[in-house]
Amino acid sequence: MSTTTHAIAAPGPGAPLERTTIERRDLRPDDVLIDIAYAGICHSDIHQARGEWGEAIFPMVPGHEIAGTVAAVGSAVTEYQVGDRVGVGCMVDSCGECEYCRAGTEQFCVKGNVQTYNGVGFDGEPTYGGYSRQVVVKDAFVCRIPDGIGLDVAAPLLCAGITTYSPLRQWGAGPGKKVAVVGLGGLGHMAVKIAAAMGAEVTVLSQSLKKQEDGKRLGATEYYATADESTFDVLRGRFDLILNTVSAQIPVDAYLGLLRTGGAMVNVGAPGEPLSYNAFSLIAGNKALAGSMIGGLPETQEMLDFCAEHGIGAEIETISADDVNEAYERVSASDVRYRFVIDTATIGA
Ligand SMILES: [Zn+2]
Ligand SMILES: [Zn+2]
Repeated sequence: MSTTTHAIAAPGPGAPLERTTIERRDLRPDDVLIDIAYAGICHSDIHQARGEWGEAIFPMVPGHEIAGTVAAVGSAVTEYQVGDRVGVGCMVDSCGECEYCRAGTEQFCVKGNVQTYNGVGFDGEPTYGGYSRQVVVKDAFVCRIPDGIGLDVAAPLLCAGITTYSPLRQWGAGPGKKVAVVGLGGLGHMAVKIAAAMGAEVTVLSQSLKKQEDGKRLGATEYYATADESTFDVLRGRFDLILNTVSAQIPVDAYLGLLRTGGAMVNVGAPGEPLSYNAFSLIAGNKALAGSMIGGLPETQEMLDFCAEHGIGAEIETISADDVNEAYERVSASDVRYRFVIDTATIGA
């Protein structure tokens, strides 16, 4: 027994996405049925739908930036009621017992967390994501979206928001700290808004000055073009923290040179080819080069509450189901300011 729901799926790697129907499981005692209102398009959706990240499950219904309202709850659910505004991010299950799960960092579950789509649940069934009218998710992997944020601008917070909030929090972005955000795309624009709201002084390092006005409107006080080599002289030794959101080759040593002594550069971008650096770029100045992967459920809720309190949502372009393939092309060409969000009512009734 299950429920049929409308969705948009990639039938095979690289094939255009098309409308289809999928089955959602009947509610288990700890399940929540969500009427999805909006689903963000994350760059990783495109990589996976094109089969660029290795083995993948097709047909694939991408989408791990999900916002909607609760339509029904299982018999054991006490945290949520019908009508509640909720979101789902990159994970829908984990073992719940290992040290990382107990610490609320389910993304590091030793048994592997279950991805929201292109994953396999502990029941052996493939998972299908948010480009869909409805989804069934275990209550522990559902977050509450505060009333202060629209569901459309909240959807991208579930991946782009937490991906940038977590390292900014972990590495101490706040008053008196100088933070550089490398790249002003889906992730970068969230990083600028969040770091500024945390009280840090934010600089954008982008290839060109094309988006300078946007960057300053979003909260950056300074904006530099990295194509201009003098930038790396002007800003030498300036930053406490550099958050790199770019999924491409960058001259790591040049960026490490922009850090103060004891500063850190954190990567959330994921280029396909290895990055290299000179060890002395770290040694001379006790610098750190680090990474960060999304955030656990408690921190994701904290991020949503923080964003509501500070009036932060994503900058979005809302599209219909008919526009998803074109949107994929535009994201690949960095032609979006700054996140596409699918109005899931257009998928089918
Ligand atoms: Zn994502
Ligand atoms: Zn675990």
